[in-house]
Amino acid sequence: MVILETVMINDEEDRWRWKGQHGGDFSVAAFYEDLTKENGTENFPSQIVWKVSVPYKVKVFMWCLIWGRLLTTDRLRRLGMIIPNRCTLCKIEEETVEHLFQTCSFTKLVWEAFLNGVGMDGSRYQVTGEIQQWLQGWPKLNSSRWGTVVWQLTPYAVLWTVWKSKNNVIFNDESLTAEKVVVRAKAIIWYWCLGKEVRRGHRFSELLHNWVSVVKGVG
Ligand SMILES: [Zn+2]
Repeated sequence: MVILETVMINDEEDRWRWKGQHGGDFSVAAFYEDLTKENGTENFPSQIVWKVSVPYKVKVFMWCLIWGRLLTTDRLRRLGMIIPNRCTLCKIEEETVEHLFQTCSFTKLVWEAFLNGVGMDGSRYQVTGEIQQWLQGWPKLNSSRWGTVVWQLTPYAVLWTVWKSKNNVIFNDESLTAEKVVVRAKAIIWYWCLGKEVRRGHRFSELLHNWVSVVKGVG
């Protein structure tokens, strides 16, 4: 009753009210504003999800990944599905988010293809830790404009491609190699930059064959 003391009853019709700003009126623009502002909805780090120049479906994927909403095998089991908790890629260890995207022996091969020679190989740089913190700590390279764009998109392209490829193994019985995933991730970066002025004058073959030169900005 204490709560109800402040409630005023009037003749107005009942209606839904948006808890965000803008006087209780919902609009997509208001929702997007709440999502993207710094320390917006639920303190979500918008810089590493909503403000990244990737397709919307990839942003949603990243949102699910960071909030632990992806349906990895361990989560499906927690939801009651009776399936063995075996990583789809290495088929040896338990499939958790951290394993699938970071520490799996298969995924490690993919990361190595992107990191080796760039200046952070071996023990100096590890793909590990909470996805959010790890993404926020993604190293900066002193590169050309094109190299910087490619490098900033790299973790997103790898995470997205690993996820899509894993689903291809499950639903289409694809036989996967790390090389295939690497080429796909590079192709995705190339595609995401379609129409960007910074891509002009460059070729996809450079990403394929001269990766280190591209991201270091010396090619
Ligand atoms: Zn694995």
